[in-house]
Amino acid sequence: MNIVFLGPPGAGKGTHAQRLMKELGIPQISTGDMFRRAIREQTPTGLDAKRYIDKGELVPDEVVVAMVKERLAEPDCQHGYILDGFPRTVAQAEALDQIAHIDVALNIDTPDDIIIDRLSGRRVCAECGGTYHTSLLKEDKCPACGGAVYQRDDDKPETVTNRLAVYQEKTAPLIDYYQKKGILSTADCRGTIEENYRAVKAALEAKKQ
Ligand code: ADP
Ligand code: ZN
Repeated sequence: MNIVFLGPPGAGKGTHAQRLMKELGIPQISTGDMFRRAIREQTPTGLDAKRYIDKGELVPDEVVVAMVKERLAEPDCQHGYILDGFPRTVAQAEALDQIAHIDVALNIDTPDDIIIDRLSGRRVCAECGGTYHTSLLKEDKCPACGGAVYQRDDDKPETVTNRLAVYQEKTAPLIDYYQKKGILSTADCRGTIEENYRAVKAALEAKKQ
């Protein structure tokens, strides 16, 4: 099954996608993670993307689409995948439709006040990309792999506000885009992580039949 996760930054796309990846045995493809790795490794794509990411802007469509195209051609993607953070614009969704058949677009529906709290308390593991909320971390180490956790530059308050505005303007229209295709399914994610994950699974099941 080829799945797209939609939703505002901090909605929990990454958290749910990682868990679903293990359960379904298909890869999670996070364009945000791919960019963060590229930035750490200082590749040309990484250096290019960093200028946009630090401001909370979107990386240009051509750059993202080329990166995703390459990734989806890899052998582990041939039996399904979860796209997390892509597409983020209508142009990206159209490009994706040229190269893939998407079965379900899962909308992780989350109110703004929850988003702001999540993003400001979010920490990311530098080793495995796992994400955690400060309220659940006992030390600055990843509970899964022991790697160091850090706060993303783009989780600073000024940038968070901009990312939410960019989401409303550029990404929210995708809800309509997939609704019209008849493959949208919505999970109400205003609860605990556990409740939200159940909502995500239920929303997926609803589209399987
Ligand atoms: P979040 O979902 O928390 O906003 P991500 O890790 O998905 O964060 O993405 C971080 C940043 O990487 C985005 O704010 C954007 O600058 C860039 N990015 C990731 N995916 C895309 C994409 N599909 N198109 C354009 N920019 C992207
Ligand atoms: Zn880790």
